[in-house]
Amino acid sequence: MGGERHRGRVPVRRRRHPDRAARRRARRGCDDRRDGRQPDGGPRVSLDAFIAGLPKAELHVHHVGSASPRIVQELAARHPAAGVPTDAEELRRFFEFRDFAHFVEVYLAVVDLIRTPEDVRVLTYEVAREMAEGQRLRYAELTCTPYTSVLRGIAIEAYTEAIEDARVAAERDFGLVLRWIYDIPGESGIPAADATLSYAIDHGTDALVGFGLGGPEIGVPRPQFQPHFDKARAAGLRSVPHAGETTGPQTVWDAVRLLGAERIGHGCSAAQDPQLLAYLASHGIALEVCPTSNIATRAVATLDEHPLRTFVEAGVPVAIGSDDPPMFSTTLNQEYAVAAGLLGLDTDGVAELSRASVRASFAPDAVKARLMAEIDAYAGATLPG
Ligand SMILES: [Zn+2]
Repeated sequence: MGGERHRGRVPVRRRRHPDRAARRRARRGCDDRRDGRQPDGGPRVSLDAFIAGLPKAELHVHHVGSASPRIVQELAARHPAAGVPTDAEELRRFFEFRDFAHFVEVYLAVVDLIRTPEDVRVLTYEVAREMAEGQRLRYAELTCTPYTSVLRGIAIEAYTEAIEDARVAAERDFGLVLRWIYDIPGESGIPAADATLSYAIDHGTDALVGFGLGGPEIGVPRPQFQPHFDKARAAGLRSVPHAGETTGPQTVWDAVRLLGAERIGHGCSAAQDPQLLAYLASHGIALEVCPTSNIATRAVATLDEHPLRTFVEAGVPVAIGSDDPPMFSTTLNQEYAVAAGLLGLDTDGVAELSRASVRASFAPDAVKARLMAEIDAYAGATLPG
C-alpha cells in the first residue's frame, strides 16, 4: 500500500536546473555537493568520499562484464595465444569505452579468455576483491551466463565448483557475500534457455537465487521464455529478466505478466507508461538502474533525459547498478554519484539509495539486517564536509 511504499522511499530534492546540476556533478565527481549540515563530531567528507566509504549492495552486475584490465591481464597471461594484449597500458586503452560495437569486441575478447575452470575461479575471486576493496560492496548478486562457458568446453559441474570456491573464499577473505543469478543469453534462443534452466535446476547451489534473461531485446521476444521462467520460479528462483532497455514498455509488461519478474533489469522505457509505473510501484517491483550503461548502449540518449527521477517520483523502487563497469568505464561508486546528481541527493539521500538496494535484494534476512545496520552506523558517524 501507499504508506508502506513511502516508508524508506528515496528522497528527491527539488531544484531549478536538475539536469545541468547532474551534468556538473557527474563531471566533477560530486565534490561540489554540500547539504549544509554543521559538523558536530564525526569526520567531514565530500559526497564522493561518502559514497566511496558507504557499505553497498549491487544487484545488477555481470560476471564476465566485471573483468577489469587488471584481471584480463592475468587471464591473458594464462592464455598468450588468445591475442589479447598483456601490456597494462595497452589493455587500459583497449578497455576505454568508445562505442557499443567496441564494447561488444572487448566483452567477446574476455569471454574467449575464460577457457578453464581455473579461469572462472580467478575471474570470480578477483571480481569479488575489486567489489569489496574498490566499491565497498558487502553483498552482490552477480549475473553469470554459464551457457557461454559450457559452450567453450567447461563442464557445468566444474563451472559451478569454480564459482562456489570463489564465493566461499571471497566471503572469508573480503567479507563480501555473493549470490548468483543465472541468465539466459537471449540471442542464443531456446537451446540456451533450455540449457540454462537445466544448469539452474539440476546443478544449482543454495547461493543461486535468481533466474535472468539478457542479451538483445529486439528480435528476442520475452514471451517465448515463459515456460523456462515458470519452471525456474517453481524451483524457488526469483525472476529478474532484463526488459525495456532498448524496447518499449510492452517488453516490461511481458516480463512482469509472463515471466513473473520481481525486479527488472533497466526497464528504461517504463517511464513512458504511467500505468506501468503505477503497477511497478504498487507491486514493489524494483528497477535496476545503471545510468552510464544506459547512455553507452544508447538505451537513453543523454544523461539529461535519464528516467531515474521519473521512477523515483512515481514511487517505483530502484536499485543502482553498474552492469559491466570496466567496459563502460565506470564503477558502482560513480553510478551512485551520477544518481545523486540526477536526484539531487545529499549524503542522507545517498545512504537511502544504498538501503533501497538492500531491500530489493534476495539476501538472507540476517545479511540484510547486518548490512542495514552497517549503513546506519556509517551514515550516522559521517558528516558532510
Ligand atoms: Zn545487464
